[in-house]
Amino acid sequence: MDSASFRIGIGHDTHRLGEGGPLIIGGVTIEFDRHLVGHSDADVLLHAITDALLGAAALGDIGELFPDTDPAHQGRDSAEMLRFAMDRVEAAGWRLVNLDCIVFAQLPKLSPHKAAIAERVAEILGAQADQVGIKAKTGEHVGPVGRFEAIQAECVALLHRVRP
Ligand code: MG
Repeated sequence: MDSASFRIGIGHDTHRLGEGGPLIIGGVTIEFDRHLVGHSDADVLLHAITDALLGAAALGDIGELFPDTDPAHQGRDSAEMLRFAMDRVEAAGWRLVNLDCIVFAQLPKLSPHKAAIAERVAEILGAQADQVGIKAKTGEHVGPVGRFEAIQAECVALLHRVRP
């Protein structure tokens, strides 16, 4: 494969934390006393992944596909949104090589959940868990992450072309 057969994309997202759990990150429900606030189910990691995949295929972004002004997207399952985006990406002739993701959360400790998150993301994408890297960072007690105000996520995605 030559280099024109590959595309890289980046995604980033932030959601505010609100009182009361549970927390949903990467399609996995985590026991915690706060939840992420947003128009959809606010799954910050799935949103970053969705944008990375759409970006790699130059198919726009999650806000264009699912405008937050549309009541139809209220409380929407981010797994369904990610699958919809991946269908677009695949229809354009691309297949996933891998994702590398970082979740920035002061709490909860995400290490015990990383394997489950990788498996769930892979399941949504029809991929293998070893195609999905999940890393977790704290906010070192500074900034919106460190002050427990928000959780953020970043993702890079690599695609390869299987059809012109
Ligand atoms: Mg979002």
